[in-house]
Amino acid sequence: MHAPKSPRTPSTGHCIFCDLIQGAAEVSICYEDATAIAFLDIQPVNPGHVLVVPREHYEVLQDIPRDVGLHLYEVATRLIPVVQVAAGATDMNIVVNSGAAAGQNVMHYHIHLIPRREGDGFDVSLPFPGSVMPNRQQLDGMAARIGSMLRDPLKN
Ligand code: AMP
Ligand code: ZN
Repeated sequence: MHAPKSPRTPSTGHCIFCDLIQGAAEVSICYEDATAIAFLDIQPVNPGHVLVVPREHYEVLQDIPRDVGLHLYEVATRLIPVVQVAAGATDMNIVVNSGAAAGQNVMHYHIHLIPRREGDGFDVSLPFPGSVMPNRQQLDGMAARIGSMLRDPLKN
């Protein structure tokens, strides 16, 4: 489970999600197949907070093979409306924290499905109040750069 698939994955140390997947720790599973597993977050924002996780150990978004990433998204898409009803929530946040600077604490890639209710106190604060707002020229410049890199990944 710990064999890194990407040269950039340093995969060091112990992984709690690999333990859960291997049956070495307690877990409340709500969905599983050969590639993916979904279980209840132990410290939920609200009841019904689910994590969708690849069985294989990948750390961050760019480590995930395309077919696995698409499958995880497909599983998440199937679970979202069910979780929302089961949790009695009115709304949902779908969150991926990819990398330590983005707030990832468990370095085994996962998608959060977070049922939301008015006044629950959780906050994914967008638009960002600390934003240094770019002008249109800067927005256009970044859009052109991304578009060009998409067409030719060797350009940067
Ligand atoms: P992140 O900060 O995006 O890496 O989120 C990690 C999430 O994993 C947190 O919401 C934790 O509450 C959750 N978590 C950590 N350990 C466990 C565990 N043993 N079982 C279920 N969820 C866990
Ligand atoms: Zn792992």
